[in-house]
Amino acid sequence: MTDVEKREAAVPAPAGWDYAPAPEARDIVQLRERYGLFVGGQWLEPTDTYTTISPATEEPLAEIAQASADEVTEAVAAARVAFEDGWSGLPGSERAKYLFRIARILQERAREFAVLESLNGGKPIKESRDVDVPLAAAHFFYYAGWADKLEYAFPNRNPRPLGVAGQIIPWNFPLLMLAWKIAPALAAGNTVVLKPAETTPLSALLFCDVLRQAELPAGVVNIVTGDGRTGAALVESEVDKIAFTGSTDVGKAIQRQLAGRPVKLTLELGGKAANVIFDDAALDQAVEGIVNGIYFNQGHVCCAGSRLFVQESVTDDVIRKLKRRMGTLRVGDPLDKNTDVGAINSRQQLEKIQELVESGREEGAEIYQPPCRLPEKGYWFAPTVFTEVAQSYRIAQEEIFGPVLSVLTFRTPEEALEKANNTPYGLSAGVWTEKGSRILWMAERLRAGVVWANTYNRFDPASPFGGYKESGFGREGGRHGLEPYLRFE
Ligand code: NAP
Ligand code: MG
Repeated sequence: MTDVEKREAAVPAPAGWDYAPAPEARDIVQLRERYGLFVGGQWLEPTDTYTTISPATEEPLAEIAQASADEVTEAVAAARVAFEDGWSGLPGSERAKYLFRIARILQERAREFAVLESLNGGKPIKESRDVDVPLAAAHFFYYAGWADKLEYAFPNRNPRPLGVAGQIIPWNFPLLMLAWKIAPALAAGNTVVLKPAETTPLSALLFCDVLRQAELPAGVVNIVTGDGRTGAALVESEVDKIAFTGSTDVGKAIQRQLAGRPVKLTLELGGKAANVIFDDAALDQAVEGIVNGIYFNQGHVCCAGSRLFVQESVTDDVIRKLKRRMGTLRVGDPLDKNTDVGAINSRQQLEKIQELVESGREEGAEIYQPPCRLPEKGYWFAPTVFTEVAQSYRIAQEEIFGPVLSVLTFRTPEEALEKANNTPYGLSAGVWTEKGSRILWMAERLRAGVVWANTYNRFDPASPFGGYKESGFGREGGRHGLEPYLRFE
């Protein structure tokens, strides 16, 4: 063992180790030049459009509709008609058939969706292929199973659908967030108008093709694309429910907008999760968990482990191992099967990351980035770690939503807990220790919707997900995820 340690100190990570390019074929995706709005089972010609691009190359991909308030009203009306004229009266077992069909078609077309998701969003193909798309299909399978069992899920409560659900999703997991929203809504008997994020509309638009293949009745799912104005129009419209995933600021604005109206609301907002490493943890495994926690999807993850708390006695070891591991991350073409870290989703997001990283330097933290060559075109940011971070620094307080980790230290479990909970957010946390009783002690006291133990960023459709405090309210996933789409008689 000592030999291995010595070698790693003397020889830096093999940064110059060349891999042959291994690009996934792109031609499986057939893009149209221009997309309309998917309303009442038809494509409506858009009155206004914008261009969606690939963030890795800045290459234009397609013209996308910018839905106006009137067009949103039309979509909500189509959803209302579909709700009243059939969908709400269908037996649960019939609704389940459609959801099972959608799940199977997503599996059949998995490669196409994975390539499109990486092309439009910048995430590595191995993530869209192995995480986003399979989990999206799993979500439809899972909720298909509940559609005819609502009476058992909520015994003696007489569950009924709400009506039309307006759903607004972010750009970090476009297809997966669509699945998290649409699957439980349809299983519960609602119809839907969904707005994808401005920068990543393409997988939702391809999904309309899946809906047609599945012969889902017209108007049960409607997709309206556009920027924040389209989202605001959807919140204003005659919906019975708003489900929102996105930033805390917009979530607060929506809550204000809905005050006094009988519209059910769930908010899945930002996070600044603590990933806590105790000195008895399996450190090599923990380092993998740290890397997965913050560099997965370029750190564009609401539950990213962006604040690392390490017990003082092992801090030097953990930082040394982490830096070595960071040197092996391959940053580049999202469609290359060897890529670990892809492109930043947009110029706007890149500027936000740059600004916060600059504040970290100015406030006095020490920055480390492994040597890596970033492509000239497109939006890129190297995996970054900050040490010597104080709790008061912006990089320890604010959500960066990029591949940037802030490292803090602690001495006792009580101190770790107090520091971990010292945040306005409360979405997720990680605990690394060999000691089961300590895991339970921490999990009970961490104010976070999800606590992972000796792992990080693990998802399952059966497991509820959601936040405390400024991370929002309501749960998605599991039986809990049905409740926000039901009323009880
Ligand atoms: P965002 O600006 O809040 O956008 C989220 C969605 O809301 C987008 O579709 C956006 O459209 C739309 N929107 C913008 N302004 C709106 C308004 N006034 N009314 C209604 N809708 C509006 O967030 P983002 O920058 O796309 O995503 C990053 C944030 O989402 C992070 O804070 C992250 O933590 C959070 N997030 C949370 C979860 C979770 O499950 N808790 C999951 C993923 C992301 P545009 O695309 O046109 O801006
Ligand atoms: Mg936005």
